[in-house]
Amino acid sequence: MSDVKNFKLYVDGEWVNSVSGETFLSDNPAKPKQILGIFQKGNQEDINKAVEAAEKAFEVWSQTPAPKRGLILLRTAQLLRENKKSLAREMTMEMGKIIAEARGDVQEAIDITEYMAGEGRRLFGFTTPSELRKKFCMTIRMPVGICGLITPWNFPMAIPSWKIMTALICGNTIVFKPSSDTPLCATRLVEALEEAGLPKGVLNMVTGPGDTAGMSLVRHNKVEVISFTGHKDTGTSILREAGLKRVGLEMGGKNGIIIMDDANLDLAVDGVIWGGYGTTGQRCTAASRVIVHDRIKEKFETMLIKRIKKLKLGDGLEPDTDIGPLINKAAQEKSAKYVEVGKNEGAKLLIGGKVPKTDGFFFAPTLFADCSVDMRIAQEEIFGPIVSLISVGDFDEAIEAINSIEYGLSSAIYTNDVSKAFEAITRIEAGLTYINSSTIGSEVHLPFGGIKHTGLGAREGGIEGINEFSEIKTVYVDYSGKLQKAQIDLA
Ligand code: NDP
Repeated sequence: MSDVKNFKLYVDGEWVNSVSGETFLSDNPAKPKQILGIFQKGNQEDINKAVEAAEKAFEVWSQTPAPKRGLILLRTAQLLRENKKSLAREMTMEMGKIIAEARGDVQEAIDITEYMAGEGRRLFGFTTPSELRKKFCMTIRMPVGICGLITPWNFPMAIPSWKIMTALICGNTIVFKPSSDTPLCATRLVEALEEAGLPKGVLNMVTGPGDTAGMSLVRHNKVEVISFTGHKDTGTSILREAGLKRVGLEMGGKNGIIIMDDANLDLAVDGVIWGGYGTTGQRCTAASRVIVHDRIKEKFETMLIKRIKKLKLGDGLEPDTDIGPLINKAAQEKSAKYVEVGKNEGAKLLIGGKVPKTDGFFFAPTLFADCSVDMRIAQEEIFGPIVSLISVGDFDEAIEAINSIEYGLSSAIYTNDVSKAFEAITRIEAGLTYINSSTIGSEVHLPFGGIKHTGLGAREGGIEGINEFSEIKTVYVDYSGKLQKAQIDLA
């Protein structure tokens, strides 16, 4: 272990050990014996120091002109671009994503960073006429304060970047608590911002367990915003503990794809393979329920099985790998458990369902047929490469099936009937609907997020993302030289 690098917390512009001196390891889920780094186990004391640093830095950073803040973001994007190859490689080693998807994750971080740099020259408020003479009315955007950002491991650069870059451009300071499964990716992102010239204390990072470091951040009374992405149960306990803070929660999904009898089936198979098995099914937008019209059910099942058989499991660094490992042993066990649940519920296992005999936390791509909407495998977020097929007799039944879940993140329909496509847009209960494309693949200038038990608070990305991290101030300028009383002087 002597050649394994020791990584630090980033507090007030310094790389430091945790107060307790305790550490944890990050490993490679494809080769669990490969240790990628030793990381600091931050706790409440480290969070307190980080919040103190963020508080000190707030005055200067919040008063720095937003276009200038944007220049630091632009430099960060440039550094991420220059290092994209090595960042993607490390990401594949740390969380198992195949290398092409890891490059996509880094690219998304670059895209949101550039996008938010540009927002530094906008951050629009508005002006509007006053009811009274010689009076001017406008709104401006103000930072909210110290933001506590808590992120998951499955998009280890993109999701932290959505939050960090948006909070920064709005003039906030930050304490960032990344996932304990991907502290290396988080550290690389912070290093890029430091190298780009971000002043000390503006961004602080405390690695460490969610229930201690994370929860201390949630409860800290100087933190104004908690922006969290992760599991629904974690989000629920955060909401309970946050007190009077602004809380943004992006949580789980159980996303569905509808395949109508007039759909282009080759296109739909591509969509289900990408949506169901991409990132080994470990996306909040993963398509884990496929709702197929009875008339094409058998044909579609046959086409899908043929493609699943060709998927190659392996180390994401190998160029011919289609599916990498799950993030850890617990995730592997969870997928195995849900296969048993599905069988016991009476679903028909068409393919997969096994842990392959290799090192690493792999799981065979799995397809269940003859599922009903109320089965647990069709209701609960598994976060593994397991897809449930539900067959329906018509469009109305398909809409009912896709909406029969507690979540509301992403959705898709494959059809060549334009009327059905438009009807689906308005009837599907989800934050995102794709027409003739899979449930995944968001663009940073559009809002992203879910409804029902998936999301609470503002959307991320695009202009909507700015709303999560800024306050609107209403300003009246009265240049009449006399006391004008709105309403009363008009009555
Ligand atoms: P978790 O909820 O387990 O963890 C997310 C973050 O919360 C981690 O940093 C974790 O720290 C921290 N955390 C854990 N417990 C607490 C606590 N008690 N108080 C404060 N923080 C805590 O989710 P995963 O990392 O496993 O991510 C997968 C989940 O994220 C899935 O449900 C997925 O659907 C969802 N997700 C949602 C997205 C969306 O936009 N809607 C996007 C991507 C993922 P630690 O790692 O130390 O436990």
